[in-house]
Parts: sequence; C-alpha cells; structure tokens
Amino acid sequence: METTPERAAAFERYTEMLLSEGRRFNLTALRDRESIQRRHFGESLALLRALEQASAFASPAIDIGSGAGFPGLPIKIARPEIALTLLEATGKKARFLEEVVAALGLNRVQVVHGRAEDIAHDSQCREAYALALARAVAPLRILVELALPFVRVGGHLAAPKGSGAAREVREAVEALRICGGEVALVQELDATGPGARPTLVLVRKVTATPPQYPRRLGVPAHRPL
Ligand code: SAH
Repeated sequence: METTPERAAAFERYTEMLLSEGRRFNLTALRDRESIQRRHFGESLALLRALEQASAFASPAIDIGSGAGFPGLPIKIARPEIALTLLEATGKKARFLEEVVAALGLNRVQVVHGRAEDIAHDSQCREAYALALARAVAPLRILVELALPFVRVGGHLAAPKGSGAAREVREAVEALRICGGEVALVQELDATGPGARPTLVLVRKVTATPPQYPRRLGVPAHRPL
C-alpha cells in the first residue's frame, strides 16, 4: 500500500498514543510496537485491500465497537477522503478515540459513545452507511443484528474473523435472513504476522432490516437470532 510522509507520521503518532495510553484499556496486544504495527495496522490495511478488490470499500463508513480504533482508524489514515464514524460503548475508549482524532488532525471522523442496540435506532444512523466494519465485537450471528441496521441496501458489513469463520457463517443463516443480509465473500486476508491469518466475512445488505432490530440492550447477545 502506497505511503506518504504524512501517513507515516500519523501512524507513528498513533502508535505512540497506543503505547502510552493503551494500557489503560487493558489491551494486552497493545504492549509493544511490533504487535501494534503488525497485528493492528497490518490487519486493518489487509482488510482495506480486500474490500477495495471486492469493490466493497465505500463512504460513509462506520466502525462498530472500535475499541482503540481498529480497524477504522488505520483505514482512515490510509484513505483520508472517507467519512468515518467510530462507535464505541465504553466511555474511556471513546475519549481515547477523540484524542487520537484530534492529535492526528483527522477530518470527517465522528466518535459516537453508545451501544449499537441504541444508536442503530437513531434516524441519522439507520441504514445510513455504505460500509460497516466490526472486528472482535461479537460472533457473526449477533453482529449481523447489531451492525446490518446501520447499512444501506446495497452496502456491506465487513467482519474479520478467526479460524471459526465458516462455522460462524453457518450459525448466522437465520440472523442474515431476518436482517436482510447475504454472504458475499469469505476470504483469507493477506496479513503477515504470527498465528493464523484472519478471514474476511463480507455480507451484502440486500433488503431493509425490519425496524424492531436490533432488539433492546443485551438481547442480541443473550438470545441470538
Ligand atoms: N474492534 C476493536 C475492539 C475489539 S473489543 C479491535 O478489534 O481491536 C470489542 C469492543 O466493542 C469493545 O471496546 C466494546 O466496548 C465494544 N462493544 C461491544 N459491544 C458493543 C455494542 N453493542 N455497541 C458498541 N460497542 C460495543
């Protein structure tokens, strides 16, 4: 992926902020520069490449359960022209995201502190995004209920998954039917680094999600579709 001095500086500044403040979030994978750059940046940018190849990369985008900013912020640094919303349920993580956005001088980024179960019912956010990203937030059958309501018909939900991707897809069949999605692609990402490569599950939104979804706070996880 092409890089510029500005992008390199932004990644460096973000790395420094993750190293000094990531500890606050009890994220063990943020302990060292190597794992940040390989696992978090590398995986996010591998996801971007795969989405561009699949013609699924589009703006506006939303990163649901962004945590310390993955995969949304590395993608935003690499593609500054996109409009991006970072949705995060935990207040201190949302504040960290605000700090990074300010320090990097990123435009067209909105940090929303809240839960998908609530925010997906806001008229501003409902079926408003061409792309939803979500890494390590919930098993696919639950994620589909949380995320597809944000996606406009014709847009995509992109979820990097681990070795259980195929099983997660099988278990999500009913949730996909109900929420208006169909699996467009299941593809290994070309991320380098230790351990198994993540697998991209790309879901295309084919019909509108009925207004009762997502169900109220906590219900999607406790009684998965
Ligand atoms: N996507 C990041 C963080 C993964 S941890 C990464 O891959 O590194 C999961 C994050 O999702 C946590 O920060 C948690 O607060 C957030 N989260 C979990 N459920 C959520 C929900 N229903 N709505 C919004 N954020 C949620």
